[in-house]
Amino acid sequence: MPQQNLHLQRVFSDAFRQLGRGRRRLTPDANQIEVRFYPYAGLHHTIRLRAGRVYVRLSDLFRTAPPEVIRALAFLLVARLLSRKAPRTEEQIYRSYALSPQLLRASDLVRRQRGRKVVSSSRGQVYDLKRIFARLNRRYFENEMPRPVLTWSQRRARSILGHHDAAHDTITISKALDSREVPEWFVEYIVFHEMLHVKHPARIMNGRRYYHPPAFRTEERAYPRYQQAQDWLDRVVRKRHELRARAA
Ligand SMILES: [Zn+2]
Repeated sequence: MPQQNLHLQRVFSDAFRQLGRGRRRLTPDANQIEVRFYPYAGLHHTIRLRAGRVYVRLSDLFRTAPPEVIRALAFLLVARLLSRKAPRTEEQIYRSYALSPQLLRASDLVRRQRGRKVVSSSRGQVYDLKRIFARLNRRYFENEMPRPVLTWSQRRARSILGHHDAAHDTITISKALDSREVPEWFVEYIVFHEMLHVKHPARIMNGRRYYHPPAFRTEERAYPRYQQAQDWLDRVVRKRHELRARAA
C-alpha cells in the first residue's frame, strides 16, 4: 500500500511540475501531496491546497484504472487547482475511461447503494442466484469458475440488469428481475452474460478498452437462448420508453 501511494504522489507532483511550469510555489514535492481513494457516491474527485500541502481524493471507482488514466486525471485535477487549461489529450484519455459503459454502470450502482446499509443476498423472493450460477457453471464453464459474490441489487433498477465488478469480485443482478413476471431463462441469460465478464476481462486494444472483446461476443452468441433473450431485452427497453412517453 505505501508503495502504491508513493507512486500516486509522484504522478501528481509530476503533473504539478509540468503545469506549474517550474514556478517553485506551484511545484510541491511528492511528500507534500497526499492522495487517497475515497468512496464517493458517484464519480467525483477533489483536490485541495492547505498550508502548503496538497490533498487529493480520488473516487475509489478509479482504484483499478490503468496508469495512463490516473495520470490523465492527475493533470485534470492539478490544472483545475492552478486554474490552467488541461492538456486536450489528457482530457480525452480521462473522458473515454470515465464515460465507458462499465464505469458508468459502476458509478450508477454506487450512487444507488451508498449512504444506505447494504444487506446483500443471493437469495431473492423468486430466484436464487447461487443455484442459477451453479447450473450455468456446470453447463457452460465446466464447473471451473470460482463463485464470485452474487447479489441482488438493493433497488429495482430497470436500466442496469446486471453488473460485474472485477475489483470486488461481485456480480450484481437487478432486483427488477426477481419477479414471477420474468422467466427464469432470462435471469439465467443475464447471469451468464456477467459470468462471461469474469471469464473474459476487459482488454485494451489499440489504446481502447473493450469490455466485450471478440471472444466474449462469440461465446455469448453461442448461448442457446441468446436471440430469445435479445428479443426480450428489446421488449423491456421498448416498454420502458412507452412508459416514459405516457408519463411525459
Ligand atoms: Zn456486458
